[in-house]
Amino acid sequence: LSKPLLITGCAELLTLRGPAPRRGRALSDPGVIGDAALLVSEGRIASVGRRRDIERHPLARKAGKLDLGGSVVLPGFVDSHTHLVFAATRADEHEHRISGATYEEIAHAGGGILSSVRALRRASFEALEARALIALRRFAEHGTTTIEAKSGYGLDAASELKTLRLHRTLAAEQPINIVSTFLGAHVVPPEYRKRRNGADAYIDFLSRKLLPRVVKEGLAEFCDVFCDRGAFTVPQTRKLLTAARACGLGLRMHAEQLARTGAAQLAVELHAASADHLEQINAADIRAIAKSDTVATLLPGCGMHLGAHHPAPARRLIEAGAIVALATDYNPGTCPTLSMPMILSLACAQLRMTPAEAIAAATINAAYSLRRHDRIGSLEVGKYADLAAFNVADYREIPYYFGVNLCVLTMKRGRVIYSRGVGGRG
Ligand SMILES: [Zn+2]
Repeated sequence: LSKPLLITGCAELLTLRGPAPRRGRALSDPGVIGDAALLVSEGRIASVGRRRDIERHPLARKAGKLDLGGSVVLPGFVDSHTHLVFAATRADEHEHRISGATYEEIAHAGGGILSSVRALRRASFEALEARALIALRRFAEHGTTTIEAKSGYGLDAASELKTLRLHRTLAAEQPINIVSTFLGAHVVPPEYRKRRNGADAYIDFLSRKLLPRVVKEGLAEFCDVFCDRGAFTVPQTRKLLTAARACGLGLRMHAEQLARTGAAQLAVELHAASADHLEQINAADIRAIAKSDTVATLLPGCGMHLGAHHPAPARRLIEAGAIVALATDYNPGTCPTLSMPMILSLACAQLRMTPAEAIAAATINAAYSLRRHDRIGSLEVGKYADLAAFNVADYREIPYYFGVNLCVLTMKRGRVIYSRGVGGRG
């Protein structure tokens, strides 16, 4: 049995306590406790509250001590949309896009997702593992303690299985939790593009052949489809996701990023856990999402990197009562950041979310979209001691200082997985 730990020096502690998920005005109350303390036992929160109360707890006297020196403490970020495993960056495309090439022009020229597919198929398991481990360390440095990770740069049985098995290896060899998602239907692979009805044939292959193997090996908790112009249609998406649901997988969708296709309403119809992107949704889509339990996961890093000027209608979603979450969409083509603090800044500046709304979206609501809101996403008794400490005086300064990483300590299940200069605020 490990020794309990008493954590003090929290100028502000955002508990995010209360019913989850959060909708509408409930997003605005982060449950702040000033001069707070936390008592951690066996990786879980044994007590949380005002320091003078927690210090009187019977476990506190024999506990180890950790003084955060006046930090602001949040639940560890839950990044519910990443493409963790890839073989190479696409900085060349970024430059082409700046010179005027569109996302779809780059894809037609053999760039885009297919260039990542070529690179991943060639890459060894070990090379992919080494790159992903560096990324996971950086996630931790930015206060993230749980991520979702998608396959989708393999697009054949061997390479998709390689990616999904790597998720499992990575989950076992480092502290950040990895929730694995099968995104075999990311785009139509090159081998199927030459065939008549190639996209249908590929969806057929995924539904009948690859999905059952993924499920049998227990390699994924969710199935995702890129349902958009240039990727898969609504009927193709319905077919694969219906098969995935029948196998017991949860559902996620890339929806309405490039064009309005009806993808968001399909996500609602299929009771998907999450519909992600949503830049192109209309008023009827907003109403449908707001009435549902499908989380609207917004990815403002993508629009920033692509230089797009059509952000998702976050305010209208929140006002309609949708469950809004935020994630990075960490990937080599459209959003290379893995910084959730930067995503908070973008959510405030571009989506007009308040700092409190953005933090709730990046913690408890993201946890809900991964079906882990009973364990993570808030700092409440019984939940895992997953937290991030920031070298600021007020939580609103986290999104305010955009592009600067002020995270000084990250803890996963009561264990410090990253720290630097705790308490040295200038
Ligand atoms: Zn994505």
